[in-house]
Amino acid sequence: MFKKILIANRGEIACRVIKTARQMGIKTVAVYSDADADARHVKLADEAFRLGPPAPRESYLKADLILEIAQRTGAEAVHPGYGFLSENETFAEACAAAGVVFIGPPASAIAAMGSKSAAKTLMEKADVPLVPGYHGDNQDAAFLQAEADRMGYPVLIKASAGGGGKGMKIVEKSEDFAGQLASAKREAAASFGDDMVLVEKYLTKPRHIEIQVFGDTHGEAVYLFERDCSVQRRHQKVLEEAPAPGLSPALRAQIGEAAVRAAKAVGYVGAGTVEFIFDTLSDAFYFMEMNTRLQVEHPVTEMITGLDLVEWQLRVASGEPLPRRQDELRIEGHAFEARVYAEDPARDFLPQIGRLAHMRQPQESAHVRVDTGVTSGDEISPWYDPMIAKLIVWDENRDRALDRLSSALAEYEVVGLDTNLDFLGQLASHPAFRAAELDTGFIVRYRDTLIPPPAAVSNETLALAALAELALLEGKSEAARQRVKDADSPWWQVDGWRLNQDNRHALHFRHGETEHAVMAHYRDTGYLLEIGEAQIAAHGTLTEGQLHATLDGYRLSASVVRDGNTLTLVRNGHNIALTPFNPLLAGLEAVEAGGGLTAPMPGTVVAVHVKAGDQVEKGTPLVILEAMKMEHTILAPQAGRVAEVFFQKGEQVKEGAALLEITSD
Ligand code: ADP
Ligand code: ADP
Ligand code: MG
Repeated sequence: MFKKILIANRGEIACRVIKTARQMGIKTVAVYSDADADARHVKLADEAFRLGPPAPRESYLKADLILEIAQRTGAEAVHPGYGFLSENETFAEACAAAGVVFIGPPASAIAAMGSKSAAKTLMEKADVPLVPGYHGDNQDAAFLQAEADRMGYPVLIKASAGGGGKGMKIVEKSEDFAGQLASAKREAAASFGDDMVLVEKYLTKPRHIEIQVFGDTHGEAVYLFERDCSVQRRHQKVLEEAPAPGLSPALRAQIGEAAVRAAKAVGYVGAGTVEFIFDTLSDAFYFMEMNTRLQVEHPVTEMITGLDLVEWQLRVASGEPLPRRQDELRIEGHAFEARVYAEDPARDFLPQIGRLAHMRQPQESAHVRVDTGVTSGDEISPWYDPMIAKLIVWDENRDRALDRLSSALAEYEVVGLDTNLDFLGQLASHPAFRAAELDTGFIVRYRDTLIPPPAAVSNETLALAALAELALLEGKSEAARQRVKDADSPWWQVDGWRLNQDNRHALHFRHGETEHAVMAHYRDTGYLLEIGEAQIAAHGTLTEGQLHATLDGYRLSASVVRDGNTLTLVRNGHNIALTPFNPLLAGLEAVEAGGGLTAPMPGTVVAVHVKAGDQVEKGTPLVILEAMKMEHTILAPQAGRVAEVFFQKGEQVKEGAALLEITSD
């Protein structure tokens, strides 16, 4: 076994690998970019080396530098994690040439599966069923369109080199093909440096079922059952589970054996995943692609098999045979993984960046596991994937595991940026999800119930917010009184605060567009809060961000986080953000209205469709921005004339930067 390994990755997966290495007595070397100098994976590793600036090209993709560090530190092997260099055959070859073990398949297997197009050709030969489509070399736009017309719409255009749901476009009708092809090729070139695409029939009600396979250097291969990853947004997995509900043992064995055939066809070694698309209308399954690495969702397989897949990777990479034979592998219970992302589900899951002002994770146990690369106070930067953590739960059966998931999600607290936690909570408790009515259209179908409009602020919430504000004001006035007994002290002036003078205090909160007022009257044992018509007897304590309150005899608690002007209350996994304000000053807060169209996030302008003087209709595409490996099209919010375009193709823009100006006629 190795004595020391280098982990050529970051975030949760780097931490995950370090954990197993440590258990096995293997020393670890981390690498980091400037954005990650204080990251959790750097702190967990035995040694750490700087790679360079934050951009992946200048850090985590610097194959030569990473190999140099491996040699310098005496690391015998490199674990690539997922993403970055994990499916880079040149890197795998360079490792071999440098005498460093690449913890993954041989370069030839990566190459064989690296292009979805080439992989499909290969699988066809190994008798693995394929989705009908065109996956050849001819990239002529007219030819591809003719192929699409022939197979019938809808079709799916995919980047052959694609991954992470990027570079994939659904085309509903022939007229849209050319535009979608151009966009897919642009995204593919930008993300993968290769604009080759394939076209296949788009199945309208499929499930995503994938098989975990493992091969060793002695020619053996096994499958560790399946994962159902049908719950996706933008073709990217959000919630995964194992085993796949309703899959018969016979079909399980059939797909498992097809996956092992696929692995053996390319001389596979190590952990890999063969992805299938399962047509619920015909019960047929088709090969989609093989991911030649450890998958993000591998923990659900670990939970149902009781195995450590990173340990298997390390054993196999050091030349040991597979720890178990096929007939020694069993499924026990049911597991879910929920990916906690910094994103705004209400804005089409737009990735969010910013500081995790507050984060509290669910208590880990035999049933609950949290894999993360960040801690409270860390930044989610625009440079990498906006995943905050993976929450994994296990129990004896699906229903109980789902209950575990709901309660663990309710314990999760993240303040500082938008997350999909509420959304995941809605998913976990959705009746159709509980009934395992799964297909990849699930999120779109139930969007309105999964992303309910923000609820109105309840009186209970306002009472809690008022208690939190009063605790702050009392703290300030107490501190102020002790420091300066001087009438000039700001605490005596800011908002007319007079302790024990007029015996009451007015508080104002803004929630979105709505304003709320709470009048607090001082009582011997706390306050009487007047909120509209309601009166609530309230008292409470606020210590270290935990508010313990009693409202009309009802005891409840909440986490309270102040971040800038925002006061966030977190209860049962739900955040309510309120902005306390002073109505006397409110008139001074000028609000920028204007017709400016701004960048929703930092990114690169990849296309500008209009120029000054152009007449546009509401909904006309104006500018395409690429950020976090996704394209965002900025549409005209109203009809008008383009007055000025502030950026050109290729330019970088900051979040909130005005991109162009439109004057309405
Ligand atoms: P999975 O099927 O396990 O979700 P994905 O194909 O979605 O795998 O990608 C795995 C992870 O790797 C994702 O977090 C994705 O953002 C990241 N990733 C995919 N492609 C790249 C790439 N070219 N560079 C860096 N990260 C990538
Ligand atoms: P990636 O490399 O980005 O993971 P995949 O080929 O694995 O790309 O596809 C990602 C997702 O897109 C699948 O999980 C599935 O939801 C959807 N998808 C892929 N191919 C098809 C298809 N032919 N019909 C319908 N959905 C598809
Ligand atoms: Mg895939």
